[in-house]
Amino acid sequence: MSENKSPLNDNGSFWFDTLDTPSTIAEAPSLPEKVDVAIIGAGYTGLWTAYYLKEKDPSLEIAVFEANTVGFGASGRNGGWCMGLAWGIDGMLAEEKRRDAGVRLLRAMHDTVDEVGRISQREGIECHFAKGGTLEVAIAPFHVKGMQDHMALHHELGFSEDDYRWLPPEEARERVGMTPNHGATYTPHCAVIHPARLVKGLGRVVRAKGVKIYEGTPVTEMASGYVDTNKGRVSAGKIIRATEGYTESIKGQERQMLPLYSMMVATEPLPDHVWNEIGLANRETFGDSRRVTIYGQKTDDGRLAFGGRAGYYFGSKRRGIIPPDDPMVQNVERTLRSIFPVLQDYKVSHGWGGLMGVPRHWRPSVAFDPQTGLGHAGGYTGEGVAASNLAGRILSDLVLERESDLTDLAWVNDTPAKWEPEPLRWLGVKAIQYFGDKADRIEMETGKPSKFWGTLFGSALS
Ligand SMILES: Cc1cc2nc3c(=O)[nH]c(=O)nc-3n(C[C@H](O)[C@H](O)[C@H](O)COP(=O)(O)OP(=O)(O)OC[C@H]3O[C@@H](n4cnc5c(N)ncnc54)[C@H](O)[C@@H]3O)c2cc1C
Repeated sequence: MSENKSPLNDNGSFWFDTLDTPSTIAEAPSLPEKVDVAIIGAGYTGLWTAYYLKEKDPSLEIAVFEANTVGFGASGRNGGWCMGLAWGIDGMLAEEKRRDAGVRLLRAMHDTVDEVGRISQREGIECHFAKGGTLEVAIAPFHVKGMQDHMALHHELGFSEDDYRWLPPEEARERVGMTPNHGATYTPHCAVIHPARLVKGLGRVVRAKGVKIYEGTPVTEMASGYVDTNKGRVSAGKIIRATEGYTESIKGQERQMLPLYSMMVATEPLPDHVWNEIGLANRETFGDSRRVTIYGQKTDDGRLAFGGRAGYYFGSKRRGIIPPDDPMVQNVERTLRSIFPVLQDYKVSHGWGGLMGVPRHWRPSVAFDPQTGLGHAGGYTGEGVAASNLAGRILSDLVLERESDLTDLAWVNDTPAKWEPEPLRWLGVKAIQYFGDKADRIEMETGKPSKFWGTLFGSALS
């Protein structure tokens, strides 16, 4: 492993491998004694929060402490869907008493996709942002009605055909030539990005605004008024935890966030005739109606980057880098080849994985307590590319104690309970995965709904 590929500054992803300049760790400036705001974690959440804080109050002294390098975590490894949706919103829309709050959040998420594009362009972050929308494909004929009903609910709630549209099978197959494909929902509210270019670009931009980023500097403990790092203590009036799936690395933060793995592969660049079969002419992202999420995008250099939700290790064990020969990565490759048989003669060039953060109530939250000066944002459950921007904007208002049209969104102070201790946690997650896999497999094999396993899956998630 070369110096540039040390475990601290390489996250093993295709995205880090295709940065213009290799990821390195900047020489850490000596630690300050005191700052106004200390942010833990240099992923999207930490960096967007720093960005908007500096925009709103340039005089603030802000330090970001990062255990590894900027974008080492999920922000530098993800599927690159900058999506106008977040976990929990569909559930809110389905419940009458939370519906209005859900609609507000959904509209805020739609706007957030454009906000990420706008700031990237304004700040010269070349992250290959392309807003081609997203396709959710029905993999069984009996899924169609449920998906159409779901879309009809959006229309009843004031969203238009321009926001959510049903594509009949022929049109859906033209847009994405995957198998099976019985029609799809299309929404324009999603863009593709190169995740590592976005997070590294954000790092560069906030540094230029005067934010100090201390790479290779893990925070070991946090409390009102200070953070302890591997290099010493720093006093801070306000402290923000933005560590998502890695939250347990800080003493006292155990069981706040469950680290769940998602795995990805990327193909070699594919020739035009293969893309003619696959489609994605507008670089739409695509997923499907199975319970165990899959996701894909056409990269700027003509590869297919594809992922799937994968697994959990007993005791919330975290692995820094996932090698391409990991069985869960290989399983994702098998799924990719099964839905696109046209790929049989083409190589997968990269395989990697990363950690998502899952809170006990399965939805994001943003909180700040002016009394203690402690705050956090996260819990995106694998849907945080755009959501972290909205969270960063909300958090900057909360930290500055300013009321805005964002500070009463439903995520604010919606702090989850802790996860159960082991072995209950492990058993629960394994059960959810087993029920979901089993229901998906039965439905694919029989073409009929799996009521038993599907119901178990739904109730285990609540
Ligand atoms: C494989 C994969 C695919 C995904 N695909 C998508 C997608 O297509 N669309 C989408 O919306 N979301 C996706 N996600 C989720 C999305 O990437 C995350 O929700 C988002 O990046 C979270 O950003 P964050 O800054 O909160 O966390 P992270 O990016 O995980 O950042 C946390 C940072 O904190 C650092 N850290 C940890 N512990 C400490 C400590 N003690 N002290 C200091 N620093 C510390 C870590 O090194 C890390 O850099 C995916 C996630 C994965 C893993």
